[in-house]
Amino acid sequence: MATIDGLPPLREVIQTHDLVAKKQLGQNFLLDLNLTAKIARLAGDLSGCDVLEVGPGPGGLTRGLLAEGARRVLAVEKDPRCLPALAEISAAYPGRLQVINGDALEVDVLSHLTAPIRVVANLPYNVGTELLIRWLTPAQWPPFWDSLTLMFQKEVAERIVAKPRSDHYGRLALLAQWRCDAKIVMHLPPEAFTPAPKVHSAVVHLTRLTEPRFPADGAVLGRITAMAFNQRRKMLRSSLKGMGAGIEDKLVAAGIEPTARAEEIPLERFCALARLVAAG
Ligand code: SAM
Repeated sequence: MATIDGLPPLREVIQTHDLVAKKQLGQNFLLDLNLTAKIARLAGDLSGCDVLEVGPGPGGLTRGLLAEGARRVLAVEKDPRCLPALAEISAAYPGRLQVINGDALEVDVLSHLTAPIRVVANLPYNVGTELLIRWLTPAQWPPFWDSLTLMFQKEVAERIVAKPRSDHYGRLALLAQWRCDAKIVMHLPPEAFTPAPKVHSAVVHLTRLTEPRFPADGAVLGRITAMAFNQRRKMLRSSLKGMGAGIEDKLVAAGIEPTARAEEIPLERFCALARLVAAG
């Protein structure tokens, strides 16, 4: 059957290169090229952008990104078995796909990328949250990327976009929403993947803001939210005791009831508290 890019269908690629999925590498592949092109389009206009893709696997999403016009794709893949399949894509798109065989948690990608940069990935579930947190907490803002378009387990996606007073609201929501607009842009059932995972998935699109949504020191905000959500059912006056004497007065000054719980407090108030704590 003909494909959008003239390369073999992904089922054939998987067979040819004997890419039996490995659970420990979070390998749940997308084999429908119409779907991967759609995910690539959700990332916005790729034509003038370098794209960082983590975990290309047999290359379904990679092909979508290239077909949708990405200027260049840098793909970091841990599993060396995928390299021959990715080399075929590279040959079909001369000079536009660079593949690095390595662990995305260790590879220095920056020296291989030119701005503007978008990150698009169907992330391996075991490292997805850790990578997201790293991308959201760089040493300096703005970060190297303009947007992140990432597939997660549905539950993780919901934690990223959660609002106060919901079950999923916590540190990940605050971290993401402090410096980004974050939206769920697609839901996928398990059957969209081969093999099908046990859980549903969702794509989240995050666009970075130039300035944080509310002023605060990132390290202080990080400490406060870690403490507050570590014991999310406790009243803040007790979960934040470790922030030092006078925390109860600072809570009040930030417009927070000391008897409230972390999950009730919007980002704006946490930022106000972080400013008061930083002021000493
Ligand atoms: N992008 C492909 C797709 O959509 O069909 C594959 C997605 S699959 C969910 C995750 C991919 O990430 C696998 O190819 C796996 O080998 C790779 N992977 C797992 N851990 C990794 C890591 N630490 N660094 C880079 N790639 C990793």
